[in-house]
Amino acid sequence: MTSIGVFALQGDVREHLQALERLGVDAFGVRRPEELERCDGLIIPGGESTTMGKLARIFDLFDPLVERIHGGMPTFGTCAGMIMLAEKIEDGIIGQETFGGLDITVRRNAFGRQVDSFETDLEFADLADPVHAVFIRAPWVESGSSDVEVLATVHGGEADGRIVAVRQRHLMATSFHPEVGDDDRVHGLFVDLVKQT
Ligand code: GLN
Repeated sequence: MTSIGVFALQGDVREHLQALERLGVDAFGVRRPEELERCDGLIIPGGESTTMGKLARIFDLFDPLVERIHGGMPTFGTCAGMIMLAEKIEDGIIGQETFGGLDITVRRNAFGRQVDSFETDLEFADLADPVHAVFIRAPWVESGSSDVEVLATVHGGEADGRIVAVRQRHLMATSFHPEVGDDDRVHGLFVDLVKQT
């Protein structure tokens, strides 16, 4: 059976576990290096990226996570999780650390104060119908290397054309929260990626 962990030191862990369980995979929280060893794949949830980095250091998960993510373990970051997978951050705090792996630059809290949380429907690569996407103080992808595949962009409004979902090799990230609600198709794409790897 496919085993997918959810980074569980901080963030909205339970909703991801429920989505994974609905998809029939073995799903569990990851707080310790031994739990990371059991993972065929990992989700890094939404939450607060500076706190995630600090807690990962305190709980001795930071270096093992970097090793697995850079070593080919399929990993899916949502919102703060996207920031944690980015090689570069704009508007991060001084000294903010990420696990890296995705050759992208993300801008934290990119959508600005007036629309810092909003919902919209997005066309999403490989999915027939649009995804209802919930953004909560979300980042966007400012730029990426040539092998970063864009999976979704925002249409309309001031953020028109901004990149909000990407995939590069074994890594995937969304600015929004696919775990909110009961549409499991984006998680399904990640489960497929884990099974193919
Ligand atoms: N703004 C948060 C951060 O910078 C991310 C918000 C979220 O994950 N919903 O970490």
